[in-house]
Amino acid sequence: MLRFTSLGSGSSGNATLIEAKPCDGAPPTRVLVDCGLPPRQLATRLAARGLLAGDIDAVFVTHEHSDHVGGVLALQRRHGTPVWASAGTWAQATARHQNAPACLVARDGELIVIGSISLAPFAVPHDAAEPLQLSCSDGEHRVGILTDIGEPTDAVALALQGCDALLLETNHDPALLAAGAYPAWLKRRIGGDRGHLANGQAAALLDACRHDGLRHVVGAHLSRQNNRPELALAALRGAIGQGCASATQLTVADAANGCTWIEID
Ligand SMILES: [Zn+2]
Ligand SMILES: [Zn+2]
Repeated sequence: MLRFTSLGSGSSGNATLIEAKPCDGAPPTRVLVDCGLPPRQLATRLAARGLLAGDIDAVFVTHEHSDHVGGVLALQRRHGTPVWASAGTWAQATARHQNAPACLVARDGELIVIGSISLAPFAVPHDAAEPLQLSCSDGEHRVGILTDIGEPTDAVALALQGCDALLLETNHDPALLAAGAYPAWLKRRIGGDRGHLANGQAAALLDACRHDGLRHVVGAHLSRQNNRPELALAALRGAIGQGCASATQLTVADAANGCTWIEID
């Protein structure tokens, strides 16, 4: 059985936990995708799900921005948790840390096997050194995770074909971003092709990935200033409402609580 939960989503800190429980009674495998939460917050949010930091088998870091990497070194040092990241991501993430531990090197298109979970990383356009997003599978079901991407690309849509669940960035509403208080350079960065995904872009990507087996879609990395959950949900609903995948469950992950466990059966 494969399930996942967001522990927090957005510019204040991202972490998504994937858990696979083999049906032969073997121990579960748990992989944390990004760790942008400080240790105490991570512990509290894991405890709310009945888990400890030491229960995490590995961390995959998508890129070096602090909302994704801020708590990784503490987790690695305290619990010896193996960390996977691209070489570019890890070089940037550890540039200001003396004697930082090494990571296991993830590469675009190279499968990583951790216990009963396999990770399939793929490159994305984002203003970081070597960002990778990914899908995670237990051999039966697959969850796609995609945040921090400036624009949907054919390669990314291809990488996410056939997923049973998607955690998909719905960062901003372009009208709210344009009318908001952010300085012009930041608006350009967020809305640019190496920034963040607008609701409509997420809907277009979802439209390109939807299929009968897509059971769950979680809107993620919502901007507090430049988006509203109802706008993100309406955009996603517009993409799945037409055609075959109308049984798909929709929700959004929030900054403080993420979302509850989502089980894929
Ligand atoms: Zn981010
Ligand atoms: Zn980022």
